[in-house]
Amino acid sequence: MTARRQFIQWIPAAGLAAWAGRHAQAQTKVSEKDPQAVALGYVEDATKADKAKFKTYAAGQKCGNCQLFQGKAGDAAGNCPLFAGKQVAAAGWCSAYAKKA
Ligand code: SF4
Repeated sequence: MTARRQFIQWIPAAGLAAWAGRHAQAQTKVSEKDPQAVALGYVEDATKADKAKFKTYAAGQKCGNCQLFQGKAGDAAGNCPLFAGKQVAAAGWCSAYAKKA
């Protein structure tokens, strides 16, 4: 009886832990020092893009208006398929930028 009660109490805690784990992973931001970020010239602030190295950059380009940005309009950050499992800043930029149609 006691073991059954303990088991029943344990189930919601395990579910919450699993949900929190997934939620935390979805919220992890891409670091500018991440090797993929360095290779693509990703910066959290598009105005700080390395314009000498990435000549395709143009003022106004940012993750928030990139075709690959998966966040909603107004989101501060969102997923990008180039950085699986991590989020990029809506104000960020990388050299794979493609203007949203
Ligand atoms: S591909 Fe687009 S959304 Fe993804 S990091 Fe580069 S600029 Fe941002």
